[in-house]
Amino acid sequence: MLDKIVIANRGEIALRILRACRQMGIKTVAVHSEADRSQKHVLLADESVCIGPAPSTESYLNMPAIISAAEVTDAMAIHPGYGFLSENADFAERVENSGFVYIGPRAETIRLMGDKVSAIAAMKAAGIPCVPGSDGPLGESIEESARCARELGYPVIIKASGGGGGRGMRVVHTEATLLNAITVTRSEAMSAFGNDTLYMEKFLDHPRHIEFQVMADAHGNAVHLGERDCSMQRRHQKVIEEAPAPGITEDQRQAIGERCAEACREIGYRGAGTFEFLYQDDEFFFIEMNTRLQVEHPVTEMVTGVDIVAEQIRVAAGHPLSMRQQDVEIRGHAIECRINAEDPKNFMPCPGPINQWHAPGGPGVRLDTHIYNGYVVPPFYDSMIGKLICWGNDRTIAISRMQQSLSEMVIEGIKTNIPLHQEICSHSAFKTGGTDIHYLEKRLGL
Ligand code: ADP
Repeated sequence: MLDKIVIANRGEIALRILRACRQMGIKTVAVHSEADRSQKHVLLADESVCIGPAPSTESYLNMPAIISAAEVTDAMAIHPGYGFLSENADFAERVENSGFVYIGPRAETIRLMGDKVSAIAAMKAAGIPCVPGSDGPLGESIEESARCARELGYPVIIKASGGGGGRGMRVVHTEATLLNAITVTRSEAMSAFGNDTLYMEKFLDHPRHIEFQVMADAHGNAVHLGERDCSMQRRHQKVIEEAPAPGITEDQRQAIGERCAEACREIGYRGAGTFEFLYQDDEFFFIEMNTRLQVEHPVTEMVTGVDIVAEQIRVAAGHPLSMRQQDVEIRGHAIECRINAEDPKNFMPCPGPINQWHAPGGPGVRLDTHIYNGYVVPPFYDSMIGKLICWGNDRTIAISRMQQSLSEMVIEGIKTNIPLHQEICSHSAFKTGGTDIHYLEKRLGL
């Protein structure tokens, strides 16, 4: 087993990884920026190393600093968490070339899936249904692109092959605006991702975002852990997630899930991964694969009982998966609300000191957060300060536990999006379930 792991992240996910390590008897090294000395996981870790100033480019994205922290502490492995370097193939490669275990897929897999054009080609070859589109990168010729768009039918969406985090895409409704959309997206893609390759997809007008969690080991075994519905989004960013997805039948789950697991076997996938699909009119369309742990992994853990982080660590250590497909059972329903330090009306980040903090509790309630009384939310990073996850025997119970927990949670000193979550949970459309990806923005009048 790996005896000491560097946690190359911050916030709630660093704490989540630390907890998995402790349960497994693994020592931990927290690496942190100068602004994060009082992070909860830093205080709890066996060792900690400051890797640079507050800006993430100088700390959490500083590859040599993280690798030398592993060297000086004599660690065996590095867990990247999500965000930061978690989908950076060069980092995975450097970690392994420096003699450490990277807790994630092989660098070449990250590279293949990080480029959406190559990911879609690989998934098509593996029999995964994809969104009708340009079947490869858009060339220089605007006539070619216009022909492609006409064949697909407007609206279409122009996407950056290297894009991520909901950035680098633009919806086009008419041929008159196509050239401008391609030009602007290309230059944005170049400056944001250093890669100006674009592709085109049919823009689906009322899809749901449904994704499948997979786990694979280095011995050719792969399973799926069912799906999550992440359709409650604002600006392509997930706000609430749940598992299972309302209305998805066991037959659909097994059919698509098994295809994802089979694709993992075909590409020699290792570790945890997520196949993201848009789901419209009873059809699934693959959009991308995330080669890392997801923010919303707890809802899957709550309904399957699988500790996904512990499983990632076991697999990285070379062990076979601890479960077979027939062992995976979906029990009950789980919902996650992402708690952000932001103004619930205009969504502006709201960093600062937390001077009152009361956590909710009770049956089926899980809270993944690094905040505590007196914690100061720094202005340098993502505004997410925690995740509230509620499980119930069925969806109705999960929702009522969520409403109860949201009303119990007290965070004073900063603004949070708790009022927004309370409002969404009281909507009749949310209670019915199965709302599409545009629902929240329409509700918010955006
Ligand atoms: P990212 O890597 O930036 O998250 P994705 O390709 O996963 O990009 O897309 C993010 C979101 O953008 C999706 O969840 C969906 O809301 C929207 N989206 C992407 N492709 C399409 C499409 N073809 N039609 C409609 N919406 C789309």
